[in-house]
Amino acid sequence: MPIERSEELGVKIGLEVHVQLTALKTKLFCSCSANYRGMPPNTLTCPICLGHPGTLPVLNRKAVEHAMMVALALNSSISPQMFFFRKNYFYVDLPKNFQISQYDKAGGAPLSTGGWVEFSVNGERKKVRIRRIQLEEDPARLTYPGTITSAPYTLVDFNRAGVALLEIVTEPDMETPEEAYFFLQKLRSILEHLGVSSENMQGSMRCDANISIMGGARVEIKNISSFRDVRRALQYEIMRQKQLLRRGGVTKQETRHWDEDRQITVSLRVKETESDYRYFPEPDLVPVKIPEEWVSKVASQMPELPDARKERFISDYGIPEYDAIVLTSSKKIADFFEECCKLYSNPKKIANWIMSDLLRNINETGMDVTEMSITAEQFIEMIKMIDEGLISGKIAKRVLRESIRTGRPPRIVVEDEGLLKISDENVISKLADEVFREFPKAVEDARRDRKAVNFLVGQVMKKTRGRADPDVTNKVILSKLEENRAIPSRS
Ligand SMILES: [Zn+2]
Repeated sequence: MPIERSEELGVKIGLEVHVQLTALKTKLFCSCSANYRGMPPNTLTCPICLGHPGTLPVLNRKAVEHAMMVALALNSSISPQMFFFRKNYFYVDLPKNFQISQYDKAGGAPLSTGGWVEFSVNGERKKVRIRRIQLEEDPARLTYPGTITSAPYTLVDFNRAGVALLEIVTEPDMETPEEAYFFLQKLRSILEHLGVSSENMQGSMRCDANISIMGGARVEIKNISSFRDVRRALQYEIMRQKQLLRRGGVTKQETRHWDEDRQITVSLRVKETESDYRYFPEPDLVPVKIPEEWVSKVASQMPELPDARKERFISDYGIPEYDAIVLTSSKKIADFFEECCKLYSNPKKIANWIMSDLLRNINETGMDVTEMSITAEQFIEMIKMIDEGLISGKIAKRVLRESIRTGRPPRIVVEDEGLLKISDENVISKLADEVFREFPKAVEDARRDRKAVNFLVGQVMKKTRGRADPDVTNKVILSKLEENRAIPSRS
């Protein structure tokens, strides 16, 4: 019997999400600028983040506060005292040969433990538990010309070394690649609402996924840079492991790399175990006490989060829960919706156009919502054009599609392509005359059976590429049929 369904395969997926705290001005342990994007390589460094001997790290207080906000938002318990540990390994992206990180064993305590994220997958609620959240430093950025497996050399940029990073580890509670995708979407929306990490920045959220099927060994897929790719990488890995097991093979515990270009996972190394990292307490940093008062102070400054915003959307705008969930799945879309509602008070109509055509077109182009260029003003201008009868809903769909793909505002698309609706009775009457001449048989049918009128209306629409006002066209054709009835037909 072929095994196809996920639950029968016993798929277990856990995620380790690395989130850069991009709202911080400086790195985690030194005062170098954390804003490295677009900067010339290796210009934002100092002896501390380059790991020179004799230098001492100093913890960025704001980084701890931003991390606490994330912990609170994910219902995770903040440790009253946390410790930094050294994770030892030798690699070109690590100038000290160890990464300052946190550890939940050997007497260590990370920033927080436990917690959960609740989200919706195709209308069903799903809860994924959080195992721990820890603070650590980002390693340097490596660039491989070509692919990681074939690059003849590697370029290293230390500007990223030492940037504050949060590692959010989930329990293996996800059973499908879909669930992993929607978990990440919800997490991203929470982080965006907190304002601690911007989704606009390339590489600000990276993900490792571990997956096992049918009780087999856990395979880790490293450094997946987009949500879409997390889903694809997991789909690929389920297929690969399933085929391997069917042929009588055994999955081995290993680390695989997601090759974006080829859309496959490639074995990198047989998995090292934790003991290979020789974790030990970082002697250069004292344990950090996080008293209750500090937690309450941070908690009192928390902004509105997606779940609360969803409830407010339902009560303030009177939209269904499903709509509110979709609209708050991204801060950009939620902000866009509220901006639109300020400009035009028809929330349900705005929600419908955003959820159906706007988001669908963005998805189809493979774009991310953060990349869309259409503004609330332009979007509302289009909706008003529909309501004022200047364009039909059908034309508006075409306009939006074109606008998303080309970045041209909807009104410009309407003007450039002459898409304004034709409501002029004289113009429609002339076109109807042409149709009557071309389809005499259909005219006869329409006299006997009103249902056949639709065909004639359709022909006028065809001549105008959908621009004729359907109501006016219908009226014109009906009155012509009446006129013709008065004249005895000459056969
Ligand atoms: Zn530095």
